Amino acid sequence: VTMPEHVLAGAASRDGKPALIDGETGERLTYGELDALSARAAAGLRARGIGTGDVVALASHNQPMYAVAVLAILRAGAILTPLNPAWTAAEMAKQLGDSNAKATIASTDIAAKVALAGDHSRLKTHLVLGEREGFTSFHTLCATAPAPLPRIEPDALAVLPYSSGTTGASKGVMLSHRNIVANLQQLRAGWRLTESDVLCAALPFFHIYGFTIILNSALLAGATVITLPRFDLRTYLRTVQDYRVTRGHFAPPVVLALAHSSDVAEYDLSSMTIALSGAAPLDEEAVARAQDRTGVVIRQGYGMTEASPGTHMVYDEDFADTPAGFVGRLMPATEARIVDPATEDDVPPGNPGELWVRGPQIMRGYLGNQDPTDATIVDGWLRTGDIAVAHGENFAIVDRLKELIKYKGYQVAPAELEALLLTHPHVRDAAVVAMPHSTGGEAPRAFVVTTEPIGGDELMTWVASQVAPYKKIRAVTFVDAIPKSPAGKILRRVLKDAAGSTSG
Ligand code: ATP
Ligand code: MG
Repeated sequence: VTMPEHVLAGAASRDGKPALIDGETGERLTYGELDALSARAAAGLRARGIGTGDVVALASHNQPMYAVAVLAILRAGAILTPLNPAWTAAEMAKQLGDSNAKATIASTDIAAKVALAGDHSRLKTHLVLGEREGFTSFHTLCATAPAPLPRIEPDALAVLPYSSGTTGASKGVMLSHRNIVANLQQLRAGWRLTESDVLCAALPFFHIYGFTIILNSALLAGATVITLPRFDLRTYLRTVQDYRVTRGHFAPPVVLALAHSSDVAEYDLSSMTIALSGAAPLDEEAVARAQDRTGVVIRQGYGMTEASPGTHMVYDEDFADTPAGFVGRLMPATEARIVDPATEDDVPPGNPGELWVRGPQIMRGYLGNQDPTDATIVDGWLRTGDIAVAHGENFAIVDRLKELIKYKGYQVAPAELEALLLTHPHVRDAAVVAMPHSTGGEAPRAFVVTTEPIGGDELMTWVASQVAPYKKIRAVTFVDAIPKSPAGKILRRVLKDAAGSTSG
């Protein structure tokens, strides 16, 4: 089946039930409307010459119509490439050009910016999710008379998300209908959403986590999704309370906010018992604090854009028995190896190595990039670039291979030092990056957000008393906030550039 067929299979039987509710305006979209409007809009796209194999870019914050646009694009036989609405026109133009997009659909607030970005690639069709003078409304497409929709091959491309660009240039990841459907089925085996679930989507739909794990998993299950345009702690807490949200979808910054904010006590969060965190390393200390304050049990999942995205998760039935530091077990039909990156041999059980994964959710390749594809996928195995350890069936992620700091030949994992820093009573957030070092080659440098003032030397001494000498932090910079991506990843390259320009 195709992704829209899979996701909408139960829509007819829950016609009048709200599929999505706009958390800001209260506007509701039922399953019946989602199905009917997306079919009409698909016909409308085809009438405008957008069809099989064409790429359509979608640039919007989370809102109910986002889901209609996604399903319309796919039902028209086209390929969705999601854009980060916060990007500049120049940043968007890059992805529009690289993906050879034929049309854009934008939220009204950024319509002009997206149209400007499209002008660079002489792209003519710009639609807006709403009403805005000078632009064609996507809503008029939704009024198109129903027409037969094309047959779509399950192996055809469905979504072309771009990887986050954390470790290098972001790449277009080719995901087929089959890839996404496989991952939705795999997720269902562990994270058992039902029609009575209510979710809050504060993490963006344009990132694969929000797209597959929140939006499409929820629609498949017949749950209701409350959309928020951005994460704001108080709004999030109020939404959980007012809509009786049942399960949380977090990223580490959300967990950190819950761990440190006294606002939490003002809201009734009793409807939410469990939450998933993914996208970046999660600190166990922050989990313990957040759980104490909220009563929500937080466990991890793991994945990447190239895997649609999930490969590991803590299954519902394992929540109580899995420590917060683990990303859980493999999803069904997924295999893993832990490999010495130098020799490509499996490491002995219990030892760290590069995680390789194989399964039906793994991408077809990077768009127009045969060399990176060949370097990343070997005999069907996706080299994740992450270092992991398997303890029996459970996996723990150590760090990214590329982020390891090499001090005199020793390897230091920034995530380990960050976790340690976070246990200091005056540290609220921390990031560790490599800095050039005269005798060590590279050495760890910390960026720290404090709750109460503390000296840099004092903090370095405190760390040094708890780690092997080669792991010592050799510079500390105090900052107001750690730069993070919308999905919650530390933007280490931003920090390295900042350090480079201040310390020379
Ligand atoms: P790029 O590949 O462009 O450099 P990226 O890898 O950050 O960017 P994504 O596909 O969004 O882009 O993120 C996948 C990565 O996120 C994984 O490879 C891993 O490093 C990290 N990650 C995801 N889940 C977890 C987790 N639970 N714990 C630790 N790291 C995680
Ligand atoms: Mg990556």
